[in-house]
Formats: sequence, structure tokens, C-alpha cells
Amino acid sequence: MLTIDGSQGEGGGQILRSALALAIVTGTPFRVENIRAGRKKPGLMRQHLTAVQAAERICSARVEGAAIGSTALTFAPGPVRGGDYSFSIGTAGSTTLVLQTILLPLLTAREPSRIVLEGGTHNPFAPPFDFLDKTYLPQINRMGPTVRAALERPGFFPAGGGRIAVEIEPAARLRGFDLLERGALLGRRARAAVAHLPRHIAERELRVIGRKLNWPAETLEVVEVAGARGPGNVVTIEAAYEQVCEVFTGFGEVGRPAEAVANIVVEECRRYLKATAPVGEHLTDQLMLPLAAAGGGSFRSTGLTRHARTHVALIHLFLGATIEETRDDDGVVLRFGSAGGVRSSAI
Ligand code: ATP
Repeated sequence: MLTIDGSQGEGGGQILRSALALAIVTGTPFRVENIRAGRKKPGLMRQHLTAVQAAERICSARVEGAAIGSTALTFAPGPVRGGDYSFSIGTAGSTTLVLQTILLPLLTAREPSRIVLEGGTHNPFAPPFDFLDKTYLPQINRMGPTVRAALERPGFFPAGGGRIAVEIEPAARLRGFDLLERGALLGRRARAAVAHLPRHIAERELRVIGRKLNWPAETLEVVEVAGARGPGNVVTIEAAYEQVCEVFTGFGEVGRPAEAVANIVVEECRRYLKATAPVGEHLTDQLMLPLAAAGGGSFRSTGLTRHARTHVALIHLFLGATIEETRDDDGVVLRFGSAGGVRSSAI
């Protein structure tokens, strides 16, 4: 049994979700302690608990410590089974983060899967649905499986109540790929969405984006969202290239002017547009597990965050695989080697 210190590296929920995914694909039991010790409210919150329960369901795992507030968990996976699953977080916790936990094992299951997830679909500090759909899944689909996601109902913080449905056609094995260049720019677009909030918020956000990025009116779109349980405001800027589509997201908050929301996303997008590496910081940490599990492939990243560094350690622990890292003027190239070799006992 591997022992993981959950306070290491990034010290948040990601180390737990990624350990669950890697444990299932390698058939390795583990115990994690100090769960989310780096956060204000440590231990399992609803989103993390749902992720644990989802992981347990898809592989009939033996689990100890799965309760709200728990700071230690033992997880012994069984064989993964695709099928129809439905998971409800019960709060506005992120549905895409729960999906992140179970997607990797289901990509190579024997059976196809249909997953329905209820909770938040557009949460700060988590992949928004648009990022999942346009940025992440197209890269996963290059690896052999076919995954489609549908936003059935948007869910914003704090009301939640969103729903996504995900269909997974698995592949016998994952194929690595090389993503070193963006290719030609195919399109760019900014959307400002409001639910149960005045339209002028979205219009003001787009005015800032249009002016600061110097983008024409036809690339800017206001969306008045129907069907959300509570209010929400999300701004997304998309840059689609031949090899990758990056999505940058900002969230409206009570007390934060629309212009300030737009400015933050514009700055993030500008940094990416100025660079040449195809893989932005969020896609970097999210592509690492699938490519490591595939045992090959490479990508050029704009830079490695603590989330990404935590993944390097976990990948080494569960797969015994190393990741070669080369830094140059255009960012950092990560090359994934074949899994196997000696496992260390803790990170
Ligand atoms: P905690 O509450 O413990 O901080 P968490 O479970 O909410 O943790 P993190 O451990 O911080 O979440 O992991 C967040 C994940 O969401 C990371 O994979 C990160 O790349 C991704 N993410 C955060 N913001 C975005 C964004 N704007 N677009 C895409 N992905 C994002």
C-alpha cells in the first residue's frame, strides 16, 4: 500500500483526485493523510467526497475514511467497469473535477460509459464546462477513445443545480501524442454570459475585451443563460488553433465590477497570445496523467504550476515513470516515458 502525504506540493483536492485515478488504472491501493492540509477548511468537502464515491463505484473499491471533513482515506481499487453512472454533488461543487477523477480509468474500460454529474458547471478554480468541452476533451480524443460532453443545465456558484452528461467510447489502450506547436490560428471569440443578472454586465465586459484585445464586434457575444437555478456571470475568451483550443475564464462576483472581471481574463489571454507554447497552465496539469498512463508523447507548456509539479511526483509514485523536462525560450517541453521501473514509497 502506498502512503501519500496530502499536504505535499499543491496540498489541495487535486492530489486526492489524481491519486484515485492513478490507483484505479494501476490497481494500486493507497492511503492518503493530511488531505487538503494546505486549505483554509482542510479535509474532504462535498466535491472531494463525491469524487471518492464516484471512484469507489466505478471499480467496487474498498474505502475507509470517506466522510465530510475526513483528513485521511484508504482506497483499495477493484477492476474498473464502464456503465451508466450518476453522481450528484449536492452543492455547487465542481462536476468537472469529479469527472477528472473517473475519466482516465473509464477511457480504457471494457464497456462504454454514460455519466451524469450534478453540481456546479462553471466554478472558479476548476475547469469550466467550456474548457472541458473545447480544450481538454479534443486532446483526450486524440488518444483513441471518443468522449462527448453535453451541458444539460448550467450551475453557478453558489446555487449549483447544473448538470453535465458525458459519453465515453473507450479504447483498448491510450495512444500518446506530440503537441509542440499551436498551428495556424483558426478562430477567436469572447463570450460573456449572464444568468438572472442584467445584460449590461455582459456588455460592459465585452466592451473591455474588444478594446483591450482590439477584437472586432463579430468576435464578441452576449449570452443570456436560461435554466440556471441561481445568478451567475462568466466570461470566456477562446483562441482556437489547428492543434489546440485554449479557453480563458473569469467569474463575476458580488462587489467586483464587470470591467475588473474582464481585465483579469484579458491579462491571462494576453500572456498566452504573446507566448508560442500551445499548452496553457491548466491544460498542462490536466494532460499529464493521461499521457503518463499512455506511456508516451510530449507537449510544450507555457510553464509548470504547483499543480503540475504535484503531478510529476504522483506519476512517479504510481507509475514509476519519469517525465523529461526541457526548458527553452518558448516554454517547457515535457516528454513522457514508458511506465514501469521502481516505485518510491511516498512523496
Ligand atoms: P481545493 O479546494 O482543495 O483547492 P480543488 O479540489 O477545488 O481544491 P485544486 O486542487 O485547486 O481544486 O485543482 C483545481 C483543478 O482545476 C486543476 O486541475 C486546475 O488546472 C483546474 N482549473 C482551475 N482553474 C481553471 C480554469 N480557469 N480553466 C481550466 N482549468 C482550471
